[in-house]
Amino acid sequence: MKNRLKVDIYDKFVCIADRCSFSCCEGWDILVDTDTYQKWANSDASSYLCDNVRSRRVKKDTGYYMKLERGKHCPFLREDNLCNMVVTQGEECLPKTCREFPRLIHRKDECTEYSLSCACPVVIDLLKENAGLLQFTYEGDEDRGKGETLSGKLRDTMLFLLQHQSYTLRDRLLLIFQLLLTVREYADEDHTGDMLTVKLAKVIEDYKEEEICSEIISLWSKVPFDTMDTLLERNELFLDIIQNYKTEKSYQGNLKAIDQYTQNLEAEQLPPKFDRFVDKMRDYEQLLVNFLVTKVFAYCIQEELEALIMSYQMIVTEYVMVLHATYLRQRIREDADKKKEIQRDSQVLYQELKEDMVLFSRIIGYNIAGMKEFWEDSFDEPVWEIGYLLLLLS
Ligand code: SF4
Repeated sequence: MKNRLKVDIYDKFVCIADRCSFSCCEGWDILVDTDTYQKWANSDASSYLCDNVRSRRVKKDTGYYMKLERGKHCPFLREDNLCNMVVTQGEECLPKTCREFPRLIHRKDECTEYSLSCACPVVIDLLKENAGLLQFTYEGDEDRGKGETLSGKLRDTMLFLLQHQSYTLRDRLLLIFQLLLTVREYADEDHTGDMLTVKLAKVIEDYKEEEICSEIISLWSKVPFDTMDTLLERNELFLDIIQNYKTEKSYQGNLKAIDQYTQNLEAEQLPPKFDRFVDKMRDYEQLLVNFLVTKVFAYCIQEELEALIMSYQMIVTEYVMVLHATYLRQRIREDADKKKEIQRDSQVLYQELKEDMVLFSRIIGYNIAGMKEFWEDSFDEPVWEIGYLLLLLS
C-alpha cells in the first residue's frame, strides 16, 4: 500500500490567482524542469515559450529558468495578475514549479509527504483559520517504521516539542536546538555519523520528558540577557538579510519604509514599545506555532545531521525576522496613525504579520547556500552555539 502523510490543511488550498496580494510569479528564480522545456521546444505551438528561458550550468547539469523582467517578475505575468501562458496554452503547459507551488511533496522513510509552503499568502490564511494545533493524517501500512531513522526520530521529537503547550514558545525553540546540538555531540563522540544508535534514540526520547526539559529550561532562566541586546542583534541581522532585497522592485514596497525607519533609529529608541508588541502577539501564538510546525515538517528532513540543523536555523531566523519586521512595521504605522489621529483594529496587525511571513519565507527559506556562507563569515562555522539563539530569542 502506498504510504502518505499529509498536513490536514493541504487539500483546502486554492490559488486565488489575480486576487493574490503577493504573487509567486515575482521576486525569485522560477525553475523550468527539463521535461517541460523539452515539451515546449518540441511543439510548434509552444516553442516560442523557450525564448523566455535562460539556461544555467550547475556542475555537469543544465538548469532552465524563466528570464525575469525588470522588477523580477515572470514575463508571462500580465498586468491583471493572470498568467498569459495559462490563458493562451492552458494549465497543462506550466512548468512543474508553477503547477505545484505552494504544494511541497517529498519522499521520506518510505512515505510520500505532503505539505504547503508559507511563501504563499493563502497558506498563511489557512494556518490562521486552523482551529488549534496543526494535524497530520497518515494513510498506509501500519508498520511503515515511522521515525526509525535518526532524522525521522529527531523530526518527530521536534514537532512534539513545538506543539507542547506547557513550555513558552521561546523555550520550545531553545529545547529543540539544544536537542540537535546534544545529538550532534553524541554522534561525533560515537563516530556514528548519521546512524540512529540505541544511545541516540534514548537521548532523543528524553526530550519528551517534562522533568528533563524543565531542568534545562531552569538553567536558561539564570542567564542574564536584556531586551536591548536582543533587539540590537535582531536589527543588525535584519539589515544584513534585507541588504540585497531592499532595492528589488518586488520587495521594495514591503522593505523600503522599514529599512529607512531602522536606519534612523538610535539603539535606545528600539525597546520602548516592545513589551506592548509582545503582548499583542500573544493573540497570534497559535499561528506562529503552525507556521513553525509546517516548516519543520517540510524542511527538517535531511539524513545528514548538519544539514538538518541548518534547516532548523533557517526556520528560526525566518521566525525572528518576521517578529522584528512586524514590530518595526507596527511602530511606523502607529506613528503615522497618531499624527492623523486614526485608530485601527487588530486585523491590520494580522495583515502585516502575514506579509512578513510570506516575505521572509521567500527571502530566507530558499537561500540555504547564502545563509550558510553568512553564518560561516559571522561565526567561523555554520552551526550556532546555544548562546546565540538565547540572545535572538530573549
Ligand atoms: S502566491 Fe499562492 S495564491 Fe498567490 S498566485 Fe501564487 S499560488 Fe496563487
